[in-house]
Amino acid sequence: SDPWGHRPTRVEIDLEALKHNFRQAQTLAGPEQGILAVVKADAYGHGAAHVATALQDVGARMFGVAIVEEGVSLREAGVVCPILVLGGLYPGQEQELLRFGLVPTLFDMDTARRLDACARTAGVVLPYHMKLDTGMSRVGFRAADLAWVLEELRTLPGLRMDGLFSHLALADEPKDPVNRRQHDVFRDCLARVRQSGFAPRYVHLSNSAALLTGEAPECNLARPGILLYGGLPSEAFAGRFDLRPVMSFRTRVAQVRSVPEGTGVSYGHRFVAGRPTVLAIIPVGYADGYSRHLSNVGEVLVRGRRARVAGTVCMDWTMIDVTDIPGVAVGDEVTLLGCDNGQCITADEWARRIGTISYEVFCQFSKRVPRVTR
Ligand code: PLP
Repeated sequence: SDPWGHRPTRVEIDLEALKHNFRQAQTLAGPEQGILAVVKADAYGHGAAHVATALQDVGARMFGVAIVEEGVSLREAGVVCPILVLGGLYPGQEQELLRFGLVPTLFDMDTARRLDACARTAGVVLPYHMKLDTGMSRVGFRAADLAWVLEELRTLPGLRMDGLFSHLALADEPKDPVNRRQHDVFRDCLARVRQSGFAPRYVHLSNSAALLTGEAPECNLARPGILLYGGLPSEAFAGRFDLRPVMSFRTRVAQVRSVPEGTGVSYGHRFVAGRPTVLAIIPVGYADGYSRHLSNVGEVLVRGRRARVAGTVCMDWTMIDVTDIPGVAVGDEVTLLGCDNGQCITADEWARRIGTISYEVFCQFSKRVPRVTR
């Protein structure tokens, strides 16, 4: 009878919670460090345009995206802050980078030479951030190559080093000695860069875990992602910080049916009712990002109470056992991620059930799920 006009399955984004988390990040970073808000991968699935616009309003200094395309989308959404492309720049993307005023990360000389040529043709000097590999063994110039790299970068007049950064491999295990080693390599490289006559304005190393731990020698930017979204880098940080979840994932009950003991439910009958059972059927499936690994183990909130997934998660439907929750009816709200009446399903809980991390839970919602921002 309620004409919704759309499937009630949606991701909700709470921008007030986001801004609260940003302020927490800024407090942790202190007055010496600005926040480079990591909004790659559509702001970890939260919707980069809304997120960046909101964070720009509360004082984000810079944004980090993974690819040029993400930077272009932010510019088209009206973001005017500096945007650093943390990931690769692929041949043919140089003009777009220049046109949209994006700042590239350099971690190989071929890209540096290509960019230099484009910048000189355009008559500009392009600022870039240099990425160092101090122990992540991912992209980045290595300390051992620094001498010749700096020598060669000096011969490229179309480019100007504006930032220097690296990424920590074990920041979520703050006591691991790898952290200290990475810090030491970074500090040493920074000194050598400066001795070679470069003057990077921005120096940054800390992801969320490092920001929460609080050590950032010589840095004037911090580069958090997950904590802005109210997630923690790992359970080691649980309970110590005032962060608010930004994302909820909700739908409504589409059908309710009572089945007798012994009834098999969903593909493979991997759930068989052990008692007379009330099932609520919800319009959510793995095509929305509700992992099939949640079959028989996922929990959701209905009427502020927990209910478990009954049987295999289908592409578009999931069955929930609501036998112990009286009065469940078509149209009742179902919370798969987020809070209802003081009860919460966190991304960490969800992640633990399927053997992953909250980051992947946030990123996995599919295109057909609308993001509703409030
Ligand atoms: N910096 C870089 C280079 C990253 O790749 C990431 C995320 O993967 C971040 C910062 C943010 O990390 P976190 O979300 O753990 O704060």
